[in-house]
Amino acid sequence: MNTIVQNATEIGAPDSTSAVSLKKAEKIAYENNKLHKRLCRLVGQAIGDFNMIEDGDKVMVCLSGGKDSYALLDILLTLRERAPIHFDIVAVNLDQKQPNFPAHILPEYLTKIGVPFHIENQDTYSIVKRVIPEGKTTCSLCSRLRRGILYRVADELGATKIALGHHRDDMLETFFLNMFFGSKLKGMPPKLQSDDGKHIVIRPLAYVKESDTMRYAEVKQFPIIPCDLCGSQENLQRKQIKAMLREWDKKFPGRVDNIFSSLSTVVPSHLMDRNLFNFSDLAISGEAMPDGDIAFDEEPCATGTQASGVIQFHSADDD
Ligand code: SF4
Repeated sequence: MNTIVQNATEIGAPDSTSAVSLKKAEKIAYENNKLHKRLCRLVGQAIGDFNMIEDGDKVMVCLSGGKDSYALLDILLTLRERAPIHFDIVAVNLDQKQPNFPAHILPEYLTKIGVPFHIENQDTYSIVKRVIPEGKTTCSLCSRLRRGILYRVADELGATKIALGHHRDDMLETFFLNMFFGSKLKGMPPKLQSDDGKHIVIRPLAYVKESDTMRYAEVKQFPIIPCDLCGSQENLQRKQIKAMLREWDKKFPGRVDNIFSSLSTVVPSHLMDRNLFNFSDLAISGEAMPDGDIAFDEEPCATGTQASGVIQFHSADDD
C-alpha cells in the first residue's frame, strides 16, 4: 500500500472532502508512475534500436540544467539498474560563465543523488560577446565552442559515448529547419559520429515527446536553471516550426507521429538524390521489385487511413 493510501486509512473513515483528495492523490500518483514507465520504455527502445550503449561503455551525460538533460540523466540511471550489461555514467556540465549562472545548483543536485560529475569552467560567454557584433545571433559560435570543449572533456574522462538531451520534438524541428531553410532532407540522428571523428554522440530521448520531459521535470521537481541567461533571442525560425507542429498535432491528430515515423522509413528510389540511388543505370530487369514504381501508388491520404508503420508511443499499459 502506498504511503498516501496507508496514512489515509489509518486516520479512519474519511469525510467526503478527504475522500475526494485521496482519490485525486491516487490518480496523480498513478499518472506519474505511468509517465515514468513510458519514459523508461521509450528510452530503452531507442537505446536498443540504435545500439547506443554497449557493455563497458562510459557514458558522459551532458547536463545543462534544463528539463531534458535532467530527465535524460534520471532515466539512464534507472535503466542502468535494470540493464543486463554494465556501463558507467558521468555527468558533465559546462559552466560558460553566463551572468547570474547559479553555479552551486548542479554540484549540489549531483552530490545529493550520488552521481560522479565534472564541472568544466570555460568562459565562452565573453568570447562570444567579444567576437559577435551586438544584435547578431550568437548561438552558432557558442555551440561550436561548446562542442569542442565537450569533446576534449570526453577524452579526458575516458568517456566512450556522449549523451545529449535532445528529444523527438527537437529532431522534428531540425528536420523541418533543414528542409525549409537549408534545402536538405536532413534531421538530427539518434546516434552519430562526432565531426572530429573521435566520438560517438547519442540521443537516448529520441522517441520521447517534449511534453513528457516537461511533465517529468515537474513531477521530479528538478532544480531547473533558466536557459536565457546568455541573453540570446530564442531562434525565431525554430519557434515558428514548433508552433506549426503544435498546430498540426491539434488539427490533424497522428500527422506529427507519421512524419516522425517516416524518418525511419526512407525509400531512396522514390526521392531524387542521385548519390543515394543510381537512377542513371536503372534499366529493365524483367524481375519484380518490391520497391518499384506501381505507376499509380495509392495516396495514403485518399483513404483517410494512417500509415501502418507509425511508432506506437503508448502501449495499452500506458493509457
Ligand atoms: S542560447 Fe545562448 S547559451 Fe544557448 S547556444 Fe545560444 S548563445 Fe549559447
